[in-house]
Amino acid sequence: MRAALLSEPRRPLEIADVDLAPPRGGEVLVRVEAAGVCHSDYHYVQGDLRCPLPVVVGHEGAGMVEAVGPGVQHVAVGDAVSLLWRPRCGECRACLSGHSERCVLGRVQATTGGLLDGTTRLSRGGSPVNHLLGVSCFAERCVVPEHSVVRLPDGIPFPVAAVAGCAVITGVGAALNALDHLAGRSLLVVGAGGVGCAAVMGAVVAGASPIVVIDANDRALDLARSLGATDTLLAGDHADSAIRERYTDGVDCAIEAVGRPETLRLAFSALRPGGTLVGVGLGTVGQDFALPINELVQQEKRVVGSLYGSASPPLELPRIFSLYQSGKLPLDRLLGATYPLEAVNDALSDLVAGGHGRGVLLPGT
Ligand SMILES: [Zn+2]
Ligand SMILES: [Zn+2]
Repeated sequence: MRAALLSEPRRPLEIADVDLAPPRGGEVLVRVEAAGVCHSDYHYVQGDLRCPLPVVVGHEGAGMVEAVGPGVQHVAVGDAVSLLWRPRCGECRACLSGHSERCVLGRVQATTGGLLDGTTRLSRGGSPVNHLLGVSCFAERCVVPEHSVVRLPDGIPFPVAAVAGCAVITGVGAALNALDHLAGRSLLVVGAGGVGCAAVMGAVVAGASPIVVIDANDRALDLARSLGATDTLLAGDHADSAIRERYTDGVDCAIEAVGRPETLRLAFSALRPGGTLVGVGLGTVGQDFALPINELVQQEKRVVGSLYGSASPPLELPRIFSLYQSGKLPLDRLLGATYPLEAVNDALSDLVAGGHGRGVLLPGT
């Protein structure tokens, strides 16, 4: 099958012919119908995030189950599914506490480049090729653990189901789960990419007001406004003071969807006393950011991280689909251009340029 292969960081992805072995016990074969192009893919291509190479990238996808391995119980051939990059074991401390996004199995897949048993189903010319986060959906097909899929209700388009599995669950979940009681409270969202715009949509559902969004790209801010942002600011040298002028008491909450020290500090300093900053944007491996200690202590500010919506995806995705079907989360409006698999490098360039909406690969075209 054709797949987008990363062999070396900072090089264009190669569309290669790779072999995909059949699913083993507890695994399913999915024909990929749509795959969202996420900043994390770009981070892997750039080497900011690391994974075993060579690897078939892509971790935000949806498709049809074409085959199941022995013992699969939760899905069947012919089911339409979203792909998850955090499977669950159901037994570890994280899973038992209702936070399967922290499950130890997710870390196995992230570090080994294999599936849950650490081995890969991908190869090229007989040499092993790694999976990305146990998904690898920039490809015509993928083999994933059955606990890495969520069945779709009727009427969910594949591009929506794809972006729901990463950008949407991350951004909407940050607003609905990592922050309590947003109704009537002010929120700053830093970064209006897929995750930031999804956070705006989640904040609208939660009743946050005002919702102010900051980004370096005018078109991204236009999109944020159309999704419910009540106020937008172009990022730049004076963004700090512009926020302080408009919100003299500070904002109740902030969601940082960029993952840079300077934007995290900006969001932290914009908080009013007692305010909460939620970090959802990933940085470079090993990167840190500094906080003004006295502002943290004297103003009782809180800083929390949020991974994958801060909830168990098998519970959270059906809620998101239900909100979509009732018109409360108009996820179609997040979507940007569609691309054939061969245009994956163009899709990544458009992602970096920003303001195009969420690009979606259609590997079957
Ligand atoms: Zn992602
Ligand atoms: Zn677990």
